[in-house]
Amino acid sequence: MAYKFVDNYREKGARKQLVDILKKKGIDDESVLKAIGKVPRHYFFDETFWNQAYKDIAFPIGEGQTISQPYTVAYQTQLLHIKKGNKVLEIGTGSGYQACILMELGAKVYTIERQEKLYERTVQVLPYMGYKAHFFLGDGSKGIPEHAPYDKIIVTAGAPMVPEELLRQLAIGGILVIPVGDAETQKMVTILKTAENDYERHVLDTFRFVPLVGDRAW
Ligand code: SAM
Repeated sequence: MAYKFVDNYREKGARKQLVDILKKKGIDDESVLKAIGKVPRHYFFDETFWNQAYKDIAFPIGEGQTISQPYTVAYQTQLLHIKKGNKVLEIGTGSGYQACILMELGAKVYTIERQEKLYERTVQVLPYMGYKAHFFLGDGSKGIPEHAPYDKIIVTAGAPMVPEELLRQLAIGGILVIPVGDAETQKMVTILKTAENDYERHVLDTFRFVPLVGDRAW
């Protein structure tokens, strides 16, 4: 794929419209909307598909994977309640778009992807765009214990259950956001770690993600 990095009035206008669509769908965290309005989502698409970049849809990025629907990105991000300086682990780097949204909110991002081609692309493209994350290649279903604890953990693929390791790697007061279910649909689950072995769990709306594949996953 040939990537081009030009952000002109057409893309900026389309981004504003996307923000309006997300507001209408119930996203009300102003900082999240601002981040969506700022990150050029078309940079994650081949130029041929730029006209798809600001539709509220998931889109193929190769290797059988997708860049998540903007609504889903905004929904998960909103649930994380990111504060400037938060250390965030993202499982499923994919295109790198979600990582950029987290960085716009001031997070320090540790992101892991199991598909080598996607990993190699984000390692090059994100710094080129001016976003500096810590990139890892491998199975993120067990988290990244070497860098734990994390203030927030976001899983961007559908898991069959909540991996114990992720709960362990969460700081006290930290939040884990993870879609859990079967291969077809998943419920968004948020887990707040209130004490070392104490968690507050909420089960929210239904989504459809690509599967989390790994030792503690499918
Ligand atoms: N956050 C991504 C974005 O902004 O484009 C969305 C990515 S896509 C919906 C989910 C990603 O999770 C895929 O790229 C997939 O390869 C990756 N994935 C699945 N299982 C994984 C695992 N065990 N460890 C790391 N990445 C995984």
